[in-house]
Amino acid sequence: MRIDVLTLFPEMVRAPLETSMMRKARERGAVEVHVHNLRDWAEGKHHVTDDRPFGGGPGMVLKPEPIFRAADDLLGPGGPEAWGEGVRFILTTPQGRTFNQEMAAWLARQRRLVILCGHYEGVDERVRLALVTDEISIGDYVLTGGELPALVIIDAVVRLLPGVLAEGAAADDSFTSGLLEGPHYTRPRVYRGMAVPDILLSGDHGAIARWRREQALLRTLERRPDLLERAPLDDADRRFLEQVRREREAAREAGQDALSGQGSL
Ligand code: SAM
Repeated sequence: MRIDVLTLFPEMVRAPLETSMMRKARERGAVEVHVHNLRDWAEGKHHVTDDRPFGGGPGMVLKPEPIFRAADDLLGPGGPEAWGEGVRFILTTPQGRTFNQEMAAWLARQRRLVILCGHYEGVDERVRLALVTDEISIGDYVLTGGELPALVIIDAVVRLLPGVLAEGAAADDSFTSGLLEGPHYTRPRVYRGMAVPDILLSGDHGAIARWRREQALLRTLERRPDLLERAPLDDADRRFLEQVRREREAAREAGQDALSGQGSL
């Protein structure tokens, strides 16, 4: 995969790509990332990339010309229809679809990503109309620029590319399996009076796998029950969840009985 980032602040994007897994992914040849300064495509002595909004109002807007030129240079003229399959021109915007693991997995199957980082009030609408294939938000809040969103997207996508993580390492990650992942423990066995669950020390791999699955189900039930409606569950999962629900129901009723037994004040 090749990823190009278009930004007015390339230094904001470059440093994190030199660190940890992103660096390894590049060194292993899983991905090529090019970070470009949009000013390189701006004409005139001052390389102006933004201007005041038509109609008045606060802030500045990124001009269309440097962005169209960058797109022509990087992907060829003609826009999305001419670029063809596997090429996505992504606009980072709080107005886009909220990014999630499913979108990351889908983007990881593409050939080429160009990620445009907005700034100021945003980007001239004609860029969105003619060039953008995907508008992505990383959440319902407004950031100063699209650089952090671009990095979030790149990180989530690149770790899914073949050869980046160890085989199967992402399979149990939260959202990948449809559930949140359960708890992890490492040495020491007892820390400040808190012991590692015995099952993890039992050496019984079948029992450990089942325990982990149940912990993931419990965690998802407690924190994100909405995920359980879509998660692929087997019969054992359903039986376990049913049992948990019954136990909780019984505990609630027992609590109510205890309260009513206290009589009125
Ligand atoms: N005026 C715009 C609006 O209300 O929709 C917000 C502009 S914001 C200050 C500047 C740039 O930051 C945006 O063009 C976008 O590239 C980026 N940005 C801000 N929040 C974002 C988010 N939640 N997700 C993705 N990009 C975001």
